[in-house]
Amino acid sequence: MRKTALIYDDIFLKHKTQHGHPERPERLVSIMNTLRDSDIWDSLIHLSPRKATDEELLAVHTPGHIEHMKNLVGYADPDTYVSEDSLEAALYAAGAVLVAIDRCRSGEIERAFCAVRPPGHHAEADRAMGFCMFNNVAVGARYAQKLGYKRIFIIDFDVHHGNGTQHMFYDDPDVFYFSTHQWPHYPGTGRLEETGTDKGAGTTANFPMDSGAGLKEYAVIYNDILPKKVASFDPDMIIVSAGYDLHVQDPLSGIRITDEGINTIVSAIVRSKDIPAVFALEGGYDLDALSASVLTTIKNLLSE
Ligand SMILES: [Zn+2]
Repeated sequence: MRKTALIYDDIFLKHKTQHGHPERPERLVSIMNTLRDSDIWDSLIHLSPRKATDEELLAVHTPGHIEHMKNLVGYADPDTYVSEDSLEAALYAAGAVLVAIDRCRSGEIERAFCAVRPPGHHAEADRAMGFCMFNNVAVGARYAQKLGYKRIFIIDFDVHHGNGTQHMFYDDPDVFYFSTHQWPHYPGTGRLEETGTDKGAGTTANFPMDSGAGLKEYAVIYNDILPKKVASFDPDMIIVSAGYDLHVQDPLSGIRITDEGINTIVSAIVRSKDIPAVFALEGGYDLDALSASVLTTIKNLLSE
């Protein structure tokens, strides 16, 4: 069995969104109840997150953005509400990824699932966007490099394109960004032709998926294309933006991935190379589908 951590704290429930908002605390309550009731709970290494520091955030964010988040209560963008405790939750959400990377580096764990909110992949260097305050996965990638991991492979299977993450590493030859997402769809980025620039040319790979696409289309990308990209890039860490709004039951997408599809995708990711893999929760808004998908994900982390 692979040494796998679950990183979570109740602080993530204190990030309150406005009434009717799909990105709500109940998402994590549902995930944690499902995991607690499952037969894998006792096999997991349970870890607490810490707060990301300003210095760690500054590796991908502007000082102005960090200051703005520290002083804001209200809407950061039309989709992104910041409540009184949201800053604290957001600092711990990024910090959860950092704890996962620390423990991978020390050899205590091989894999981790960070059950966090707010999510991160839409957050740009200088602004919050699309329910996201800080880009958790991007902060993690830079931190991993500081600890000595050289080449980071980021995989983003959220149904929305991770515009923030792509932009932060678009010209970086040492961080690969690989994304499948519904297209056309929010936020509008992630065309096939967006493949990186300058020294980072070729280290971004986007797979826009038609509404209605399902396991058949995703299996080609994750079973056939992903292993080749990973082999040629030769990373020493994988970080995953794990968004479960690609599920057929999800209200925010037209992609038709079932539990079997989640299993195929996650299994392909962890088999692509035997290196540390850190998963961070992004989207996923149908509570039943979300919690079942996370359970399937973690079973793969433990066993593959
Ligand atoms: Zn999403």
